[in-house]
Amino acid sequence: MGKTCLKCSHINPAPSGKAMEACPACGAIYTKVEYVLAQREQARAAQQAAKEAAEAKQAQKAAKAQAAQKAAEVKRANKAAKAELVSSCINSSTNKTDTFVFTARRKPQP
Ligand SMILES: [Zn+2]
Repeated sequence: MGKTCLKCSHINPAPSGKAMEACPACGAIYTKVEYVLAQREQARAAQQAAKEAAEAKQAQKAAKAQAAQKAAEVKRANKAAKAELVSSCINSSTNKTDTFVFTARRKPQP
């Protein structure tokens, strides 16, 4: 069974299986390359985990901010609806007054 070099991808058709065996193509020691790659992978995984944690924190913060913004929007909408209601009441009473004045004016004189 051949051994593939993790550094140069050269396949050694007859590896000796010795601890310090080197790749015949690039001279890299298999165990050393494997160790370095494992270290690199571990560092990358740790970095990824840290990044994900930071992202989760950021997302949580954003969600909180969004919720607060939504609450403020609802509050604003409620206020606007209330103002609308008040203004529509004023308008309808004004209309009523207008109608009243109009009918009063149109009332035929005796
Ligand atoms: Zn190699």
